[in-house]
Amino acid sequence: FDAVEIHGAHGYLVNQFMSPFSNKRIDQYGGTILNRARFALEIIANIRSKVGSDFPLIYRMSVNEFVEGGLTTEDSKVISMLLENAGIDLIHASNGVYASTETIIPPTAVGHAWSANISEELKKVVSIPVIAVGRINDPLIAESVLRSKQADMISMGRGSLADPHLPNKAQAGQFDDIIRCIGCLQGCIQRNAQQLPIKCLVNPMTGHESERQITPASREKKVFIIGGGIAGMEAAIVAAQRGHKVEIFEKNSRLGGQWVLAAIPPTKEELGSFTVWQVNQLNKLGVIVHLNTDLTLEMIRDNQPDSVIIATGASPFVPNIPGKELGHVLTANDILQGSAQAGKRVVVIGGGLVGSETAAHLANHGHDVSIIEMNSDIFVGTPSATKHYLMKDLQHHNVAILTNTQVKEIHSDAVVVDNNGQLQTLAAIDNVVMAIGSRPVSFSVEELEQHVSEIVTIGDAQKVRKAMEAVEEGYLAGLTL
Ligand code: SF4
Repeated sequence: FDAVEIHGAHGYLVNQFMSPFSNKRIDQYGGTILNRARFALEIIANIRSKVGSDFPLIYRMSVNEFVEGGLTTEDSKVISMLLENAGIDLIHASNGVYASTETIIPPTAVGHAWSANISEELKKVVSIPVIAVGRINDPLIAESVLRSKQADMISMGRGSLADPHLPNKAQAGQFDDIIRCIGCLQGCIQRNAQQLPIKCLVNPMTGHESERQITPASREKKVFIIGGGIAGMEAAIVAAQRGHKVEIFEKNSRLGGQWVLAAIPPTKEELGSFTVWQVNQLNKLGVIVHLNTDLTLEMIRDNQPDSVIIATGASPFVPNIPGKELGHVLTANDILQGSAQAGKRVVVIGGGLVGSETAAHLANHGHDVSIIEMNSDIFVGTPSATKHYLMKDLQHHNVAILTNTQVKEIHSDAVVVDNNGQLQTLAAIDNVVMAIGSRPVSFSVEELEQHVSEIVTIGDAQKVRKAMEAVEEGYLAGLTL
């Protein structure tokens, strides 16, 4: 190894001693900054005695713990002076503890380089270099932090999971080729919390570096892909990289499928960077894209592709609730794609991520919104940090949340619900928005099978799941053709 980093942050042992939030000792290890720092300083002295005076020692700290009674930036300025004095060569300025976990690995709702002003504070009191970290997923943002003299070095955790080649691509000026972390938390910290191996939504190679490799195909094939969502595009990219001739047939006027809609709610804009990356790669690889086009059997017969990948995605599921056919009943997709305008008072049925984000979108645009959810909580299955910021947004906009509640009937201006066994009428409603989930868009393969030897169905077209599975299946389909 080229250096040692002492993890003195995030509520782990060394930080527990340092922080008044957790350190309640009354001996020489507690009570004052100097005493609380003693444990870390003893560790530093011990390591230094073993590695020698010219070996780099880095100390990672939670500068601001963002909890009542926890370390503040002013406390950490003193600590960083002690660390420099103890022979630390670099300070890695992170933030947060487990009680403020949303600040340790912040989601897309948190701004880029959000804590660079905190690392800047440390630079005022030490002469050793300071590393900034936190939602720095773009080399231009990193450069800006450095030129602003807010830090001397940049650390990228998730940026490296999304694209380990980011620094080299930036150095070569290949900015379009960088896959940017979108702050979704799904593949990295959520799986880590579930004690599963880490993946990355935007990079199916992550966590599989030793077994997945894009190698040239033994024979060039003509590959037709039905559907230009993120699964279809990922399949096209990998297949084209392997030397196949690939064409995408997309029935809509743009690529991206439902992912484009996922980027519409407030703070989700960054999801769009993945679509932009995929479209750029398709262009570079010469993938032919047919927009506004349904692939017909006649086209299959005329062109004789070797392989067809079905990536038709999913469409909104509307449950059989009395009144569902009324004109004021919309879907979340209608709202997000702007094909329908909602009135002032809106009831969103379904408090999963799509329903809750659609509610946030409406509330941010001035609507009075209620969410009806049959489970005991909304955002089930959503990473906790993502949920934290979304809940704050819903609360800020006074969105009413009715859990353990089922819709019984929809009327032209009201919704009847069963709330914990009590029938209740929500009156004066202008619109109802369904966000119950999606169903696969099926594609009949029987006739296709008579003309094509290789047919693969991927993503939501096979079974509705999360975007990460769709992208991974697209990647694997491209890899196995
Ligand atoms: S899974 Fe999402 S948050 Fe995690 S590194 Fe990948 S893009 Fe970033």
